[in-house]
Amino acid sequence: MQELERYIRTIKDFPKPGIGFKDITTLLKEPQAFAQAVDLMAAHFREKQIQKAVGIESRGFIFGAPLALQLGAGFVLARKPKKLPAAVLREEYALEYGTDAIEMHVDAIAKGERVIVIDDLLATGGTASAAGRLVEKLGGQLLGFAFLIELDFLHGRQKLAGHDILSLIRVQEEIA
Ligand code: AMP
Repeated sequence: MQELERYIRTIKDFPKPGIGFKDITTLLKEPQAFAQAVDLMAAHFREKQIQKAVGIESRGFIFGAPLALQLGAGFVLARKPKKLPAAVLREEYALEYGTDAIEMHVDAIAKGERVIVIDDLLATGGTASAAGRLVEKLGGQLLGFAFLIELDFLHGRQKLAGHDILSLIRVQEEIA
């Protein structure tokens, strides 16, 4: 499983000084690595009767859509504000400076549906926990989160406490 890590490229100081950006394009362009990542996520959630897979804009769409198909689930978009055309629910989350928000269509999830949330990377957990709150506000049963990469040193999983969290690659140190 750790093998997937070698397909990830770290770009120092992108998009700003001090950030080690995890570039997943080097994994996506290798069909076996991309397929393996989605297969591992699907294997983890296969027995959970997932009905909706929520992908977080934008790299969460890349993994969320094929995962939804593998699970026989519908795919739902969690998008940046003002992108979705119909009635939405919005959830804000804190950034280092200020706040950001994501939105989902109010009819994207039916009450009681079994739902997972997918993104490429778990950093501080702000984005994923906001998506999880949206799912719960819409009446969905939040059964877990799937990430390709987790930056352990930012302790994002603390914000998702009490939920099943699958991360295929866990990065222990800031410069890796
Ligand atoms: P957070 O809300 O802090 O968990 O940030 C997660 C979101 O920001 C994900 O959608 C990631 O795509 C993106 N992100 C945060 N940090 C990084 C990083 N070091 N490399 C690549 N993407 C990142």
